[in-house]
Amino acid sequence: MSVKMRKRMFTGLQPSGESLHIGNYLSAVKGVLALQDTHDCILCVVDYHAITVPYETESLRRRKLGIAAEYLAAGVDSNRVTMMVQSDVPEHTELAWLLGCLMPVPKFEQLPTYKDKKTRYGSASFGLLAYPILMAADILIYKAETVPVGKDQLPHLEFAREVARKFNNTFGQTFPEPQARLNEGAYIPSLTGKGAMAKSIAKGNINLSDDPDTIRKKLAQAVTDPARIRRRDPGEPTRCPVYTIHTCYTPQATLDEITQGCRSAAIGCLECKHILADGIVADLAPIQARREELLAHPEEVYEILAQGVAICRPLAQETLNEVRQKMGID
Ligand code: SF4
Repeated sequence: MSVKMRKRMFTGLQPSGESLHIGNYLSAVKGVLALQDTHDCILCVVDYHAITVPYETESLRRRKLGIAAEYLAAGVDSNRVTMMVQSDVPEHTELAWLLGCLMPVPKFEQLPTYKDKKTRYGSASFGLLAYPILMAADILIYKAETVPVGKDQLPHLEFAREVARKFNNTFGQTFPEPQARLNEGAYIPSLTGKGAMAKSIAKGNINLSDDPDTIRKKLAQAVTDPARIRRRDPGEPTRCPVYTIHTCYTPQATLDEITQGCRSAAIGCLECKHILADGIVADLAPIQARREELLAHPEEVYEILAQGVAICRPLAQETLNEVRQKMGID
């Protein structure tokens, strides 16, 4: 496929946790890997989004490097994918201001993530309120057509589409309306049994940075089907978060044996968790080895990010000049 025919894909990588967890890996990262051969891909470490809630400066620096290294370690090919940091391309924030002047305040206040985070942190900064317009600018500045998202980000993508329509209707056709590409396999339950694994809630996650012992310890403590109080009590795999994770790592024949064994109490939870731990440890081993190499030589990652800025800034400046001209600010 020629480069010209490729659709452009944009995705933002939130440096909001110490490490990606396996839920991120199985959904967001694999979503990017699936597109890197067919799309013109831009991966952006969205550090300006990460400062819309309370954070520590040193950990933010570490997390920016860490998330870039983890995507690369997981198979993102820097020869096929452009990777950069949001704050290194200041045109994003300028476009956010210009586009923000088109959108009424209640549109921002209605978005569920804003309401959730405002409740969680007890108050909200202007940055948190303005987050969706910056996300819209991140996407629209590259005229991206495809945006891989989790379900929780769908309202923000819809907002970005609305911003594109509003601009096009007011100032003439400029932006394509970006299409969401829902990340498959996105639901990986927390080991606590409550909700999905989440970067911002470390408890209950298995991280790409966890060594084999940590993975085994975490799984040993994981919640299972509450009906399996004693070893001889039969259980129901569909009530068990460990089983849901098994479905992503365990071959079908073994999975069938576990299903039968759980229902008949022929297999105990400890043995079942050992099988899962072996699968996860083996799957993560090459990623972890590459991650260690990259973190030991961060200059390699910084060079890839610098090359990404060199590619992205001219694209961003071109769109910004077009927008400024159409809005009468040239
Ligand atoms: Fe879950 Fe496995 Fe225990 Fe069944 S045997 S409850 S699937 S951990």
